[in-house]
Amino acid sequence: MELTEKDRLYIAHTYHRYPIIVDHGKGAIVYDVQGKGYLDFTSGIGVNLFGHSDPGWKQVVMNQLNKITHVSNLYYSETVIQAAEQLVLKSGCKKVFFANSGAESNEGAIKAARKYSHDRYGEGRDQILTLTHSFHGRTITTLAACAQDVFHRHYMPFTPGFQYVNTNDTEDLSAKVNDHICAILLEVVQGEGGVLALEPTFLSQIQQLCDAKDILLIIDEVQTGIGRCGSLFAYERYGLHPDIVTCAKALGGGLPIGAVLLFDKVSDVFQAGDHGTTFGGNPLACAGAAYVLSQCNENLYQSVRAKGAYLKKRLNECKALHSVTGLGLMVGASLTAANARQVVEACLKQGLLILTAKDRLRFLPPLNIRIDQLDHGLATLFKVLNHW
Ligand SMILES: *Cc1c(COP(=O)(O)O)cnc(C)c1O
Repeated sequence: MELTEKDRLYIAHTYHRYPIIVDHGKGAIVYDVQGKGYLDFTSGIGVNLFGHSDPGWKQVVMNQLNKITHVSNLYYSETVIQAAEQLVLKSGCKKVFFANSGAESNEGAIKAARKYSHDRYGEGRDQILTLTHSFHGRTITTLAACAQDVFHRHYMPFTPGFQYVNTNDTEDLSAKVNDHICAILLEVVQGEGGVLALEPTFLSQIQQLCDAKDILLIIDEVQTGIGRCGSLFAYERYGLHPDIVTCAKALGGGLPIGAVLLFDKVSDVFQAGDHGTTFGGNPLACAGAAYVLSQCNENLYQSVRAKGAYLKKRLNECKALHSVTGLGLMVGASLTAANARQVVEACLKQGLLILTAKDRLRFLPPLNIRIDQLDHGLATLFKVLNHW
């Protein structure tokens, strides 16, 4: 039986897969089982930030693999401590809780915010504001947090306690802030929603309201974080000071890990028994994270900002595209005529992997991609777009 047939037979159809059977990868190139190479502008949806099979990352992960991979969170582990220490030192947060994914990290953040508010103010102050077009994960609670109707089907009842604010609408925000709100959860660049960067004025209004009313600011940096936007976290570029930050995707460099970063106010909200996970932050995933974080520095951020600016400039020059948005190497573009999925399929045939976000194209190349590789991918894309 053909592999793709077996896939359909054995694996739940939650993804509409593209017709390529991936075999291995090196740097920004992914190879299929026939040995055909594809330039990868997706980084596994923002995960493999140094490309595939990065030698430094592989060495650190292999060393850990040879020592121990999992012991549970009942015991200390130097590797886990090293990953947490780097997150604390680089972000200024006070404590870290490791999880396995973005959704789980957001669950942890929601729990921390509600507990903070309950400890301090008692009942009735448990509502969380989220923004239209947001995406926070696929669990029942994080789906409730996504302010998009498409996510609020099939699985009723969803977790109560979320209210939705129109993105960038300062009046709607003012109207919805009241004494029942304990937190505001947002992405500074909405990834799945279409690579939409929030307005700086809207963000500063949020920060002011949070400061004035002791509402916790939770920033979901699952897609934007770990250098992707040209700084460790995208919120730094807007001068925000969040109380909780979540990250995942790129953190492990390819291994599943998420983290909840707890800043001053919430640093001691979780005590023994308040939250937990079996796999979360195990030594193997933390070895990947510790390596990734060790590579996050100003040189990397500068190169991301420069390459991001170049990518945007080139996309802006293309007549078939408009509304080029994003920050650093997280970039989106609207198509003037063509359909995003069809363009992605045509690019795939030409040896280029790109993503969609809603009806837009989304570019998340590895952060260490070379300019000539960016040029090569763009040439492929522009050639494809010429046919529409
Ligand atoms: C991908 C993503 C998530 C969900 O992460 P998973 O690891 O798939 O659970 C949450 N928030 C944002 C902003 C994301 O991009």
